[in-house]
Amino acid sequence: MKKICLIYTGGTVGMVKSEEGYVPDSARFAAELAAIPDLHSPDAPAYDVVVFDPLLDSSDMAVHEWNKIGSAIAERYDNYDGFVVLHGTDTMAYSASALSFMLEGLAKPVIFTGAQIPLYEMRSDGRDNIVTAMMIAAEGRVREVGLYFGGKLLRGCRATKSSSDALEAFESPNAPLLAEAGIRIRYLQDPDGTLPKSPFRFQPFADVPIGVIKVFPGIQFEFFEQVMTDKLKGVVLETFGTGNVPSSQKALLHIIAKAHKSGSVIVARSQCAQGQVSLGTYATSRALVDIGAANGGDMTTEAALTKLYYLFSKGLDVSQIKKLVEKNLRGELSE
Ligand code: ASP
Repeated sequence: MKKICLIYTGGTVGMVKSEEGYVPDSARFAAELAAIPDLHSPDAPAYDVVVFDPLLDSSDMAVHEWNKIGSAIAERYDNYDGFVVLHGTDTMAYSASALSFMLEGLAKPVIFTGAQIPLYEMRSDGRDNIVTAMMIAAEGRVREVGLYFGGKLLRGCRATKSSSDALEAFESPNAPLLAEAGIRIRYLQDPDGTLPKSPFRFQPFADVPIGVIKVFPGIQFEFFEQVMTDKLKGVVLETFGTGNVPSSQKALLHIIAKAHKSGSVIVARSQCAQGQVSLGTYATSRALVDIGAANGGDMTTEAALTKLYYLFSKGLDVSQIKKLVEKNLRGELSE
């Protein structure tokens, strides 16, 4: 019988209403989980539950919590056939992307899921999300970090939260689904396509100063100078369209060139959910080409940001980091 490790980190799925709004509740979560009838079916995998302390709303999660999830999996890696991580939806795509990079040589399913409606409320989507994520983890055909939500299994490092209220809350705008759950779970990718070439290894993240800056019409770049040049090692620059930024301002070139000189890595990605950055297509992206910004291609912001954490945490030098940002490491980027 397959054995799954279910890790509850927090999030709506196990929350209850309080005077301040929804908050996680470990006792209520345990009771609601135990009451899901499907998990007692002879077809369900065996499972153990790990409950984090403190349980968090995912808005409060960052590098420390990504490391905690990563080490919880790494410590138990040999004892289970797969892992299901229950997580708040708000930053689930960031955590799934982070774990995709942290878990090098992953050869088992690690499936993130959660809910838009708590388990203890009527019409909770948590029950199906948990049961189907457990089945996917037990079937073992997806040997990577996935995100299952609302009937769709997405590659973790391609997912993004696209709706704050729909039960199909996530999308993978630039990559096909890994599977669809209808009457059957229909896998859409070749399972051997994801076989790792290296042994499993956990790479924790360092708390590197990295930022995301969104360009907007009228942006006054000079206000970002100090942050971009002295404080941040990596910047994900959310540009217009295929990588364009306002070009009439001289401040930008100067700031980016200075940031580059002081060892920052600038990654250009598009504000458009779908499609890719193609630096140099328009004159308005010339400045970024000239100072050697890395082309973020069709990566999500979640993937670009966590990839920078990953590459800096590996202690690579800036030129290697820039090269690897533009290389596909986990299926996060179409080359
Ligand atoms: N704020 C919650 C969280 O991300 C939302 C959710 O889980 O759906 O933890």
